Parts: sequence; structure tokens; C-alpha cells
Amino acid sequence: MSHHSDVLVVGTGQAAAQLAICLRQGGYTGSILLVGEEADLPYERPPLSKEYLVGDRTVEKLALRPAGFWEQRSISLRLGSRVTAVQPHAHQVCLDCGETLRYGLLVWAAGGQPRALSQVPEGLANVFAIRTRADVDRLRAALPAIEHLAIVGAGYIGLEAAPALLKLGKRVTVLESQERVLARVTCPAVSQFYAAEHRAHGVNLRTQVRLGEVLATDGRVSGIRFDDGQADLRCDALLAAIGIVPSVQLLQAAGAECSNGVEVDSFCHTSLVDVFAIGDCANHANRYAGGARVRIESVQNAVEQAKVVAGVILGAPSPYACVPWFWSNQYDIKLQTVGLSHGYEEVVLRGDPAARSFSAVYLRAGRVIAIDCINAARDFVQGKALVERGVSVAPELLADAERPLKLLAAGAG
Ligand SMILES: Cc1cc2nc3c(=O)[nH]c(=O)nc-3n(C[C@H](O)[C@H](O)[C@H](O)COP(=O)(O)OP(=O)(O)OC[C@H]3O[C@@H](n4cnc5c(N)ncnc54)[C@H](O)[C@@H]3O)c2cc1C
Repeated sequence: MSHHSDVLVVGTGQAAAQLAICLRQGGYTGSILLVGEEADLPYERPPLSKEYLVGDRTVEKLALRPAGFWEQRSISLRLGSRVTAVQPHAHQVCLDCGETLRYGLLVWAAGGQPRALSQVPEGLANVFAIRTRADVDRLRAALPAIEHLAIVGAGYIGLEAAPALLKLGKRVTVLESQERVLARVTCPAVSQFYAAEHRAHGVNLRTQVRLGEVLATDGRVSGIRFDDGQADLRCDALLAAIGIVPSVQLLQAAGAECSNGVEVDSFCHTSLVDVFAIGDCANHANRYAGGARVRIESVQNAVEQAKVVAGVILGAPSPYACVPWFWSNQYDIKLQTVGLSHGYEEVVLRGDPAARSFSAVYLRAGRVIAIDCINAARDFVQGKALVERGVSVAPELLADAERPLKLLAAGAG
């Protein structure tokens, strides 16, 4: 007889842990099992590219809850176990050890895998990614023998890892194929600000590069050759920070609708009966993206979607509707973003980037859709209401940094 759980969660990350916590908080008495490939108890990922990489945070301090928490709440964890197939008609999943687990409800919270660089030959030493605690431990263990590290990708993770590696005394080059850093998520002014900061701190930042070949000596990275005739770059390690591939292949093979993640409705149901999906792997229609389908990689999204599924299971369903927010720490600069800026038509700057404290307010059809706040926590707190309500505000009022955003929110009908 295979083991049965009322709620079986695939994944032991932020979304999975939050779901189990919410279910018990809400008085759920059924059996809950979390199955995860990683060996660790549920932990948070944001410090991996920040304090944990530097060595300023211990592994114990990454944990989402103290070790005894899960047992005390009768939340079963099966760590170091990979799900290899989903059989929705039989309401069961298969594990890599050959065992099957049956479920009443299945929640897919499998996150994603770092996207691999196609130019890297298999088996090459000193190629890293940062997704798991084990990834960072592997990188840290190799650092004493590394002098110059090339980071491929100037997104959040690449740009957070750069300051950490500089602090550890490494020479750092960041290579970006787009014409500016953070191009996918922010406006040119914010990109320019971050590029200048990284260069001022000593990062060799190169944009619009075309990676050709990764060079190797004795099975280790020794450099990078470019496709556009630029001179080879000598480096002795490579950190690939070019995003993730959502881990949904098994669900897709089981028949779930997938497109850049697994498609879910506003209650996080997939197209398979009794199967939900939450967190980084879930592709959902978001009203803050004008109703477009998006996949959001953030703690806030993982937590909120977990709450949505808990609500459904607890019999008090409430659709996913909250405003997205995100943060990133680089050097002494704290970026906080509220809303989704995709598709903006106009951007208004509040404050002066030279003062290292300013905000970028994004507008579509005259309405505020997102705000990036750079060392500007007050704008983040006060601007949330503008985004939530999609308030129309005259750009010249937004540009006046002396005028608190809360007055603009209050003044709008
Ligand atoms: C380095 C880093 C820095 C970040 N910084 C920030 C930040 O500053 N702010 C912010 O808001 N967000 C940040 N994020 C994003 C945030 O951490 C993620 O959005 C969040 O962790 C997603 O949670 P999740 O539960 O969906 O996925 P995950 O946390 O990835 O958990 C998925 C789990 O499922 C497991 N799994 C996958 N497939 C299987 C399988 N077949 N069988 C068993 N187990 C499986 C995986 O091993 C993994 O443990 C950061 C992420 C990273 C990696």
C-alpha cells in the first residue's frame, strides 16, 4: 500500500512551507506531506545572493521556521526525494526511489531550475548558479582558488552577487546581452543608476555582449570568447544568472496546460482535477499586468498564492488579487518595487538619482501601474495605494518629490 496524504505538496520552498503553515493556522486537521528534492528544511532564498553569499548569515538563520516547528504542527516532510511522475487519474505521484504517494489534493510548488548557459560544455569545473543553499556552499568552497569571476546576466541575482563577491575580494565582471542592466524589469533611468553604481564599486560591467564560447583549461573555466570580435576575457569562474526555467515538465507530461509555467486560475487550480500550483512555477492572469498572464518570481507571490490555496482548502476561497511587490539589495541601495511596470507608456522620476534616493513612477493610460523606489522607503509605503487603485495623477505632481505620495493618493477620487 502506498502512503496517502490529504494534501501532498511537491516542493519544500517558500510557497510550499507557507501553504502548510496557513493550513495549520486555519485549523486544518488533515494530513499534510511536503516532498522536496533538497536536503534542507524549508528556508528562504533571498539571502542566498546577499548575506549568505558574503558569509554574514548562518545556514540556521536561513530557516523559515525552527527545526521543531514542522513536527509540532504534524506537517510531514520528506526531504531529498524527487518526484519523477504525476499520475492525476490515480491521484498519485512517483518518487525517484520507486515509491508512489497517493493524494487527495496535490499542490505543485516546484519553483524553477537555473537556466543553463548553452555555451558551457558539460562537466566543466567552476561554473556556478545561485538557486539553492547547496549552490552557494559550492561556490563559497571554490572561492579561495578563484580570482576573477564572470557573472553572466545583469538581472537581480547577478547584480546582487556582484557586490557580495567584490566584498569577498574577488575581481568581478558582469556580462549582459541586452543594452542595459535590469532591462526586463525597469526603465532606462533606473538601469543607468545601477550600472553607474556597479562601475563605481569596481565591477567591470559590459552590456550588449555576445557570448561565443566558454574557454577551458584542464577542465576548468579559463575565459570567455565573444561572438563580436571583442578580445577574449580571462576569468577563472563563471556564474550563470540568466533566469530560471519553471519546473513544470512533469505536470505538463501529465496533461496540465502549461505556457511559461503551469497555467492556473485565480484560485490557483491547474487544468488537472485536484491539482493546484503556486509560486515561481505558476502562470496566472494578473490584474496588475492588465489581466495578462505572468509568472512572478517573488516571495510575496509565493506567500500570497499559498494563502489563496489554503483558503480554498479551508472552505473560505478568495481569489488572488493582491498588488505585487519586490525588493533587491545591492551595496547600500535598497530597491523596493510595487506593481508591474511591463507595458508602461510614461515614466516620471521623483528625486535626483545623484542623491542616491529617488523613485521611478510608471504610468499607462495616465494611471500609476508601478513604482521603483531606490532608497525611498516612504514612496514605497505611500505609493502602494496609487498602484492598487490605478490612480490617475498628473506627471508634474508625481515629479514633485516634496509632495508626499499619500497626499496624491488621498486627493484622487
Ligand atoms: C538568489 C535568490 C535571491 C532572491 N531574492 C529575492 C528578493 O530579494 N526578493 C524577493 O521577493 N524574491 C527573491 N527571490 C525569489 C524568491 O526566493 C522566490 O520567488 C521564491 O523562493 C519562490 O518560492 P517557490 O516555493 O515557488 O519555489 P522554490 O523556493 O524554488 O521551491 C521549490 C522547491 O521545489 C523543489 N522541487 C522542484 N522539483 C521537484 C521535484 N520534481 N520533486 C521534489 N522537489 C522538487 C525544489 O528543489 C525546491 O526546493 C530570490 C531568489 C533567489 C534564488
